[in-house]
Amino acid sequence: MTVTVQPKALTNYKARDFRMLIDGNWVKTEDGSTLERVAPGHGVIVSRYQAGTKPDAERAIAAARRAFDDGPWPNMTGAERSNLLLKAADLIAARADELAHLDAIESGKPISQAKAELGGAVDIWRYAAALARDLHGESYNTLGQGTLGVVLREAIGVVSIITPWNFPFLIVSQKLPFALAAGCTTVVKPSELTSGSTLVLGEILAEAGIPSGVVNIVTGTGPEVGAPMTTHPDVDMVSFTGSTGVGRLTMANAAQTLKKVSLELGGKNPQIVFPDANLDEFVDAAVFGAYFNAGECCNAGSRLILHRDIADEVTARIAELSKKVKVGDPLDPSTQVGAIITPLHLEKIAGYVSGARDAGADVALGGEALDLGLGQFMAPTILSGVKPEMAVAREEVFGPVLSVLTFETTDEAIRIANSIDYGLSAGVWSRDFDTCLTIGRRVRAGTIWMNTFMDGASELPFGGYKQSGLGRELGRHAVEDYTETKTLNMHIGARTNWWMPR
Ligand code: NDP
Repeated sequence: MTVTVQPKALTNYKARDFRMLIDGNWVKTEDGSTLERVAPGHGVIVSRYQAGTKPDAERAIAAARRAFDDGPWPNMTGAERSNLLLKAADLIAARADELAHLDAIESGKPISQAKAELGGAVDIWRYAAALARDLHGESYNTLGQGTLGVVLREAIGVVSIITPWNFPFLIVSQKLPFALAAGCTTVVKPSELTSGSTLVLGEILAEAGIPSGVVNIVTGTGPEVGAPMTTHPDVDMVSFTGSTGVGRLTMANAAQTLKKVSLELGGKNPQIVFPDANLDEFVDAAVFGAYFNAGECCNAGSRLILHRDIADEVTARIAELSKKVKVGDPLDPSTQVGAIITPLHLEKIAGYVSGARDAGADVALGGEALDLGLGQFMAPTILSGVKPEMAVAREEVFGPVLSVLTFETTDEAIRIANSIDYGLSAGVWSRDFDTCLTIGRRVRAGTIWMNTFMDGASELPFGGYKQSGLGRELGRHAVEDYTETKTLNMHIGARTNWWMPR
């Protein structure tokens, strides 16, 4: 039996009305139309955002363009930008509880997790602030007496930032401070389902002293607001996190004007487990990897590849621990798995489970939606006997559903791990160093965890191989992603003429 935490009605909560931030002004759409967000864990309207339109996106792009071409931002010193980003980090920390609460009610994630994400986000803003002072190019003093070569790093220009609903504040924080550190100006479009914390961030950045027009935030749907942000000729770069399908469309749109594109897309991440692993630690990591953020996580460890000798025992132990995970009210501090983002998405998850059952997999645990009176929830689910060719083993379910596959040899495990289109992350569990390193080198993914899962740090780059994305976020090169290089080829002294009298 799943342990459930009954959601409490949000009786005293007044839905918040948000406006968009364009050129330093908080504005409504022309016709005043709004989008309402129903809290997935409580079933009531908690936020109203402006239903932005293409002209709103165009106004925001024009403001960002002006702020880049005429404004002080790209010409400030690294130290000046760094100080403003540090101030923003302090203000985010001061409003962390409010931001975490917004993320929890709008996305349905547990409040304890939302608070931890805010802590991580503050650290990222501080890290990006440090990098703002370290951005530098190269010089070449070896090109001959008459030449000095200098390679500058310049801000790329106007950046469109498009984010999904699963980590609303964290994902914008993996992009925006690095773009700002580089001296770029931006237009940000959060998911239409979870725009609240990004809009509060707009207030924070204004208070911190980021000049008008440097950060514009437009709310609305992807096709209406996001699409023009990927095609407009005044945008120099698009930084997108979301599904592989929309990522592909974004790249095609951006290709019309050859914009730089950075894509963080889906994942179907394997955890490969050998018999010599510390199984106590692995069982906990398997449960965490599968159900963290209700499995609505690009990094979810949704594909276990267990050595055949331990598969039955380990699956049984994961099922036992899964039954103890608390599912329910996102605002209850003890909740570990919150609500599913929308009723439609819950249907999609359930469809994957029934499809797997039809294809011959066994439902070892869960498999059903949970009726907790308010909102929509899914029981932690384990599917055993999954074969590599099944859809549930290859596609992103984006729900608390764990697929268990088995292997006999290391080569077979690597073949299964690499047999899909995604390559975001992977885990390997073994006490043998050679085994871990072999998997680490041969599995094609942007991050490989060894005897742990889903750990991260601002210093460590994050991103995907194959159809999990393009480019890397975080790490010391993250700021460079938002720059162009410019070569200064400088001549000193007398130049040798090209034209010679004959
Ligand atoms: P979507 O791709 O549906 O949406 C992502 C963003 O793109 C949203 O803001 C959306 O707007 C916008 N969008 C939709 N259509 C267009 C369009 N035509 N042009 C421009 N923008 C558009 O993803 P979800 O929001 O459903 O998020 C879940 C996905 O995100 C998963 O696949 C997950 O793996 C991925 N993800 C990847 C991460 C990574 O770092 N690799 C991290 C987190 C999530 P709107 O929805 O408001 O209409």
